[in-house]
Amino acid sequence: MGVIERILNIQLKMDVYANEDRKVAGIAQSAIENDFASLTALQQAVLQSFLTQQCSGVTDPGDHHNGCEVPLEGNDLLEAYTFCDDPEVLLCPSCRQEEHDYAEEKAELDAE
Ligand SMILES: [Zn+2]
Repeated sequence: MGVIERILNIQLKMDVYANEDRKVAGIAQSAIENDFASLTALQQAVLQSFLTQQCSGVTDPGDHHNGCEVPLEGNDLLEAYTFCDDPEVLLCPSCRQEEHDYAEEKAELDAE
């Protein structure tokens, strides 16, 4: 399974298509079973918009949002889904690191 099929697979599991026409999930299912390349150009176009998502950015402890809007696709998108708790809040590798650092700082402060 290629990275596109794996993204579609994780999107299906996380119900990313819940608000879409039911045939979107059907097309994704068909891509997972038969390969994205086997879809018609029209079907590929329907899924294309789901294959690029924007980083949600992170808010620092001072309540300042970093404004990150990096487009996520391919492996970065797959990873973002793998590490997210909420499929609507996806982070790029750099924001994931930033969030991790804030969590560590907070843990240190809480420990004092
Ligand atoms: Zn980011």
